[in-house]
Parts: sequence; structure tokens; C-alpha cells
Amino acid sequence: MSTQKIAIVTGAARGIGSAIAKRLASDGLAVAVLDLTEDSCADTVSAITEAGGKAIAVGADVSDEASVTAAIEKVVEELGPPTVVVNNAGIIRDNMLFKMTVDDWDAVMGVHLRGAFNVTKAAQKHMVDAGWGRIVNLSSTSALGNRGQANYSAAKAGMQGFTKTLAIELGKFGVTANAIAPGFIETEMTHATAERMGVPFEDFKRASAAQIPVNRIGVPEDIAHTASFFISEGAGFVSGQVIYVAGGPKD
Ligand code: NAP
Repeated sequence: MSTQKIAIVTGAARGIGSAIAKRLASDGLAVAVLDLTEDSCADTVSAITEAGGKAIAVGADVSDEASVTAAIEKVVEELGPPTVVVNNAGIIRDNMLFKMTVDDWDAVMGVHLRGAFNVTKAAQKHMVDAGWGRIVNLSSTSALGNRGQANYSAAKAGMQGFTKTLAIELGKFGVTANAIAPGFIETEMTHATAERMGVPFEDFKRASAAQIPVNRIGVPEDIAHTASFFISEGAGFVSGQVIYVAGGPKD
């Protein structure tokens, strides 16, 4: 029987999720690259397979329970039981509170919180059966509060509470759960933020970098590196933690 571990990375068609999927594949895991449509996962999957790794594309909406159940079944069938989950899928619907709609609120809660709940719940039995597992949830520095992001900051703070409870409930089965809270990372999401603010992206980057102690903005690989650490065998005594990967201290 193969001893290769199987990971699911959500929102892995692009951005941070894609970088995490590629990193886990180069660490030796087989990776289910999950995003809204199977087609959108093609670039990440081919980058992994061309580098000699193993990956499949899985189309699913994490906010939809039935879609997630079907996705996990596909992973079990095509790769085997998943024991690593990275809850990365995310959206923003930014607006000042007085202009934010209930739909903006529900959409963000649906993808980040219900999505992470759905995927983790469906995968945890495979981790418990294996007596080993790793869960990594994407939070954000916005969890500490950010203008225009009442919905997103609440969801990202929620991811931290969710992570700590998973760590407490699943620890005795050999499962760790940790969260990564990125600062400014260059992806389509931060391009969209600059656009909403009406600032050219290069100016937005320069202004942000000037506020960051290491004097640069982050890249998806910075987050992938931290995910790789949490998932590694040697990190088995690290659980229920939140690491801010933001080029400087946050609290
Ligand atoms: P991104 O480039 O927008 O990528 C997010 C991915 O998630 C997209 O491929 C998106 O698919 C997918 N997705 C959205 N809704 C989904 C759903 N319901 N089911 C499955 N997949 C879905 O974002 P990113 O910047 O890489 O962010 C990744 C994670 O890091 C998010 O949780 C984000 O909140 C967090 N984060 C990012 C930053 C940053 O500075 N970039 C900072 C802190 C935290 P579509 O393209 O089809 O919508």
C-alpha cells in the first residue's frame, strides 16, 4: 500500500491555494486541487504533474454541503482517503458597514466559515481512521479589524476560533489544526482591493510595503512555506496556533 499522504487544498486554482498545492506536491503529497470548476484547476494540476508530482482537479463549491460530499468521495476514489486539509477558498465582498448588504455578509460567511466547516467535517473521519491528520485554515490580519471588511474580518476571526476548537476535539486522534493569518499577499484578491480603492496596483504595493517591517509585500510562496511546516511530521506538537505571516508582528 502506498504511504503517500493525500491533501485537499480548496481554492487552489490560483493565488495562495495554488502555491500551497504546488508546495505540498513537491513535499511528496498527492494533492486534490479543488476549486469552483474542474476546468479552472487545470493550470495548477499541470504544473504539479509536469514537475513529477501527483494531482487531480476537483470542481466543488465549498459552501454547498452536497457538492463537498461528492468532492470528498471523488478524492477517496481517485487518490485515497485525505488526511490533510487546507481550507483556503475565499472571497471578498468589501464595503463600509452602512452599505454592506445581507448578501455580502452571507456570501463571505458561506465560503470562509461554512466552507471550512463542510470540508473539514467531511474529511475528518479519514484522519480519525488513520490516527493522523493535519488541518490548516486561512485566516488573515483582517481578523484584527479592517475598514470596509466587517464581513471578512468576522469570518477570518471565526476561522481562528474554529481552528482552536478543532485542535481541542481532534488532538487525541493525532490530528493537528492550525491557522495562517497572511498580511498583504500579491494575488488577484489584492488586485481587486486596489481596484475597489481606485489605486493603481503598483502604488498600492509600494505604499503597503512601506508599512511592513521587512519592507516588501508577501508572495503566495510565503504562505505555502508556513503551510508546509504545519503539515510536516515534525510539527505534530504544534496545534491550535495562529501564525501571522505578515512581514512583522501582529496581535
Ligand atoms: P484568490 O486569488 O481570490 O483565490 C481564491 C480562490 O478561491 C479562487 O480560485 C476562487 O475561485 C476560489 N473560491 C472562491 N469561492 C469558492 C467556493 N465557494 N468554492 C471553492 N473555491 C472557491 O485569493 P487569494 O488571495 O489566493 O486568497 C486565498 C486565501 O487567503 C483566502 O482565504 C483569503 O481570504 C486568504 N488571504 C489572502 C490574503 C491576500 O493578501 N491575498 C491575505 C489574507 C488572507 P474563483 O476564481 O472561481 O472565484
